[in-house]
Parts: sequence; structure tokens; C-alpha cells
Amino acid sequence: MSEHSFDLIAIGAGSGGLSVAERAAAYGKRCAVVESRRLGGTCVNVGCVPKKVMWFGAQLAHALADARDYGFDVTRGDFDWNTLKTKRDAYVSGINAWYHTYLADSDIAVLSGHARFVDAHTLEVGGQTYTAEHIVIATGGEPVWPDIPGAELGITSDGFFELDTLPRRTAVVGAGYIAVELAGVLNALGSDVSLFLRGDHLLRRFDSLLREHLTEAMLEDGIDILSRTQVAQVRRAADGTLGLFCEQGRESGGFDAVIWAIGRQPSVAGLNLEATGVVTDAAGYVVADAYQNTNIEGVYALGDVTGRAELTPVAIAAGRRLADRLFGGQPERHLSYENIPTVVFSHPPIGTVGLTEDEAREIHGSAVKTYQTSFTPMYHAATERKVKTAVKLVTVGAKEKVLGVHIIGQGADEMLQGFAVALRMGATKRDLDDTVAIHPTSAEELVTLR
Ligand SMILES: Cc1cc2nc3c(=O)[nH]c(=O)nc-3n(C[C@H](O)[C@H](O)[C@H](O)COP(=O)(O)OP(=O)(O)OC[C@H]3O[C@@H](n4cnc5c(N)ncnc54)[C@H](O)[C@@H]3O)c2cc1C
Repeated sequence: MSEHSFDLIAIGAGSGGLSVAERAAAYGKRCAVVESRRLGGTCVNVGCVPKKVMWFGAQLAHALADARDYGFDVTRGDFDWNTLKTKRDAYVSGINAWYHTYLADSDIAVLSGHARFVDAHTLEVGGQTYTAEHIVIATGGEPVWPDIPGAELGITSDGFFELDTLPRRTAVVGAGYIAVELAGVLNALGSDVSLFLRGDHLLRRFDSLLREHLTEAMLEDGIDILSRTQVAQVRRAADGTLGLFCEQGRESGGFDAVIWAIGRQPSVAGLNLEATGVVTDAAGYVVADAYQNTNIEGVYALGDVTGRAELTPVAIAAGRRLADRLFGGQPERHLSYENIPTVVFSHPPIGTVGLTEDEAREIHGSAVKTYQTSFTPMYHAATERKVKTAVKLVTVGAKEKVLGVHIIGQGADEMLQGFAVALRMGATKRDLDDTVAIHPTSAEELVTLR
């Protein structure tokens, strides 16, 4: 095999591309990853990892506010954005460096540059051509920019991670989890945040209990939520701040930063997919079946570029399973896209898995029974600040099989994983009831619901 010829090439060294190449290499295959930016992709560089570091900082800000109520003689002094940013960026750089060593040690070639298909088994990268029997499209996604005058005055989540200072006033535009998370972090760290929603609700696809509790908590935290507001233009005022002009005639000014968090789109520009005949859908996502096959033999797609459950562990799981199938003698191995647990790192966090109540009722009608409760967790026994926790179980049928678990509140992020295992194994309400509670915790409410 020549230097330019591989068993498998993954386009994109993000969560999905790295995972498929890593597993294929473990089966003794000759692999390469192509990356035009930094190793690790969205999650490591401009997604989960730096976001979670910021979230920890924000959690600490809330804890500082509560500390006096626990008897500590502390007042919240100045917050130095630069300290947090520097440490965060150093952490991310450490992961980038680790990947370089790890890939070299694993005998996986790194082809730096933008990959472009020549045909279904040939790629051009930096003027060189490379061939492989199997090519995996794992190019991920990128933030959507609105097509309105002045959009370029704003930034996206990518730009959020480049901010050198904490904006005094921030407008976050969007209703999805990224909008909610960035709004929460900025607010906790001291920015005056307004959240602009096009529709009525944030987190539209989440269970209503989560939406309602989060909206209440964000308002309580001082975030201004402006619903039914379609931003039509951004203008810079004479004092340098930004103003948002909305279709409904509303105007809102004085912002130091405007963050577009209105969705993501697949990264397929410049790939020259036409040379392969690989089919994309109307939104540009690469169409892949349950086995990550595209319509062209030897070309596969996984992760965000397929538009399904756009989460890091999903891309990783799909990548590993694809390599198991192609090289590990497991012809039926593939990822089930059902019941994928997910967390929103809001304040308080959300953990959710399975069907929402509305989805369950649409499928199972009156056979659905839900259990829910809302309470103030014991952490707040001593604090003036009170943030509620709420949980909901969605069940179906006489056996009350659990179809959905929805939690919002302190600790929800760490609580969910085990319940997701239970749900996947087909747990019933009785199974939860028969599990002895852990006291005193918030999680015990999920096994004591009446
Ligand atoms: C702000 C934010 C927060 C997030 N938080 C979470 C979270 O908490 N938990 C979670 O599970 N997920 C989170 N995600 C989603 C997660 O980051 C993605 O689901 C995950 O990174 C998808 O992996 P991927 O391999 O499909 O693509 P990516 O990680 O995006 O990797 C694709 C790579 O391909 C490269 N590339 C693209 N085109 C080419 C080309 N033609 N040639 C060469 N290289 C190319 C890109 O530079 C990129 O590095 C978050 C995303 C964002 C934006």
C-alpha cells in the first residue's frame, strides 16, 4: 500500500471521524483523518468542552452568591474573564496536543487541509490525492448566520469562545440548547442578557415541564426573555453598541455583543460531493441509512453532517460501530438512534431521555400516564436564593413501562445517565418504585413518585 493509499479515510477529525479511524486502526487497518482546522472538531474546540468549562465558572458564580447564607464571610468581587478564558484555552490546547501524539502512536495519518472528493474512492487534500476503499464523511456542522442586514455585526457560538472580555450587555438570539446555555453562562458571570425567541417558547422540542421550569428560573435569574421576536436588522449606534430591530416594530439597543444561536447546518461546502453522486437532503445533510451507508458503496456518513441527534457521544458511537461492522466481523453492528439521553447545561441543568409527554400521547393516546413533582432541593434549605427541581416520568400501558425521564434541577446532569440505562432496559414504574431510594438526594424523588 502506498503512502497515499489507505483502507479508511475519515474526512473530519472531530468526534465521529476520530472514533471511526481509531477503531479501524485497532483492527489493524491503515487509516487517515483529514482535518482543515484543529484536531478534536467542534466538541473539543468550540463546543462541549470549552462550554462546560464556562458552565463550571457560572456554577461557581451561583455558589458564591449562596456562600454567605452558609456562613462564609465572602462577597463576590470582580470576575476576571481573561483568567477563565486563558485556563479554558490552555485546557483545549492540551487536548489538541494529546490528539496529535495519540494519532501518531496509533499509526493514524493526519492529512492537514480541506478534503475534496475527486471520485468515491479518491480525495484531494492540499494538492495531493489520496485513495481509500472506505471513505467516511464526518465533516460535522457549523452555525447558521441569519440573512439580514447587519448580521455580520454579531457573532455565533464560535465567536463566543473568542470573546476577550465579558460583554456588559448581550443579546442572544435563538431558542435551542446552545442559546439557552450561552445566555445562562453570560448572565451568571455578570452580563446583562436578553434572549430573543422567534416563537413562544425556548427548547421547543423538550417536555413542557422542562421548558416551563427553565423559563421561570431564567427570568428569576434576571434574563430578559423576549418571545415572538423576529430580529430583522442589527445596527451599530454612535456609541459603538449594537441595536436590534425586530419585525414586530420592537427595538432594543445598547448591546456589546449579539450572539446568533439560531441553528446549525451541515459542513459540506467545498467537499465536491457531486463527484461521488452521494445524495444530500433538502437542507444539505448527507443521507445515511441506519448503518451509516450513503447511497454510494464505500462512502459513509456519520455525526452532525447527517443531521441526526447532533451530539458527541452519538457521533462517537456511530463511528465505532461502523468500524466494528466493516472490519470487526460484526455485520449487523449499528447504532440505535432511539432513547438517546441528553443534558442541557442551563442553570439549573436539564437531563432528558425518551419521549416527551406530548410525543407519547401522540403515539399511545390515553394509555399514557405521567408522574411528576416539583420541589425545592435541600441545598436551598439555607439559601435565600431558591431554584426549584422538577421531575417527570412518562409511562405507558398497564405495566407502566417508562418511556421518558425528564429532570430539571441541580444535579440533573449527573443524575440522568443511570436512568437512561434503566429506560433502555425497559424499566417499568414498578422497577423504579422497588429500587431503594438514596437519601437525602433529589434523585430519590424519581423512585418515590406517586
Ligand atoms: C456550542 C456547542 C456546544 C455543544 N455542546 C455539546 C454537549 O454538551 N454535549 C454533546 O454531546 N454535544 C455538544 N455539542 C455538539 C457536538 O459538538 C457535536 O455533535 C459533535 O462535535 C459532532 O461531531 P462530528 O464528528 O460529527 O463533527 P465535528 O466535531 O464538527 O467535526 C467535524 C470536523 O470536520 C472538519 N471538516 C469539515 N469539512 C472538512 C473538509 N472538507 N476537509 C477537512 N476537514 C473538514 C471540521 O473542521 C471539524 O473539525 C455542542 C456543539 C456546540 C456548537
